[in-house]
Amino acid sequence: MAEPLRVLILGGTGEAVALANRLASTPGLAVTTSLAGRTRAPAAVPGAVRRGGFGGPEGLADYLRARGIGAVVDATHPYAARMSANAAAACGDAGVPRLMLRRPPWRPGPGDRWIDAVDGAAAAAALPAHGARVFLAIGRDGLAPFAARADTWFLVRLIDPPAAALSLARCAVICGRGPFAVDDEIALLRAHRIDAVVSKNSGGTATHGKIEAARRLGLPVVMIARPPPTPGDSVATVDAAVAWVVDRVV
Ligand code: NAP
Repeated sequence: MAEPLRVLILGGTGEAVALANRLASTPGLAVTTSLAGRTRAPAAVPGAVRRGGFGGPEGLADYLRARGIGAVVDATHPYAARMSANAAAACGDAGVPRLMLRRPPWRPGPGDRWIDAVDGAAAAAALPAHGARVFLAIGRDGLAPFAARADTWFLVRLIDPPAAALSLARCAVICGRGPFAVDDEIALLRAHRIDAVVSKNSGGTATHGKIEAARRLGLPVVMIARPPPTPGDSVATVDAAVAWVVDRVV
């Protein structure tokens, strides 16, 4: 019997889970999903799962060689730029084919009031002057630049409760994991009398509710731009990623 194609999915997104589910029922594959290990109770994933960093591009290249990985799908979040760069370098080094699965970014539509920001610091600087109430739904690692805005009250939404107090002078923390319904997001923004929303341009449907809610309430959204794309082949759908993997099964 032929050896299975060993596939490594770099995860941390709903698309990575969906891809693992689809590949689980595909013959001729042995699939491992890799998670950074930041979320306390990540979504269940079929197949093997490993957690934690590889130790930079060299560590990942060693892992690929040692495990006989024959294909890598980088299905990390569009803002996980370091992992994607590491995957590009490691796959190049180890001679392993690599595909990126990337959600297309959201585009502003009629009624949207987006303020573009190149990064978190620019987003913090772009917030309305003194006394605003701002919804921050950008993950715990991106909060540091907003500490400079002691004049602003923040509603911070995280997946897990923070282990230590946040660096923000005035804030409240709520916990939740998408998908978030538009009506619930509208109710949340109203209940906290939010004046502005800060978001990453994650794409997809799971977290778009707050963008739609802001549009309906006429609120500005400070949109933090995606990091520059990592070079290499990229697809936008789980179907296309499945087809790419299946093409590699001999
Ligand atoms: P990052 O800055 O690109 O990566 C930092 C380091 O974390 C990497 O160098 C790597 O460590 C480790 N790492 C990241 N993703 C990994 C994975 N899938 N498996 C094993 N190690 C991984 O990443 P990040 O922005 O902190 O994101 C961490 C994870 O959360 C990613 O899996 C991403 O898909 C997910 N996520 C991120 C965001 C976001 O806004 N950034 C949003 C939702 C989900 P080594 O160098 O030691 O290998």
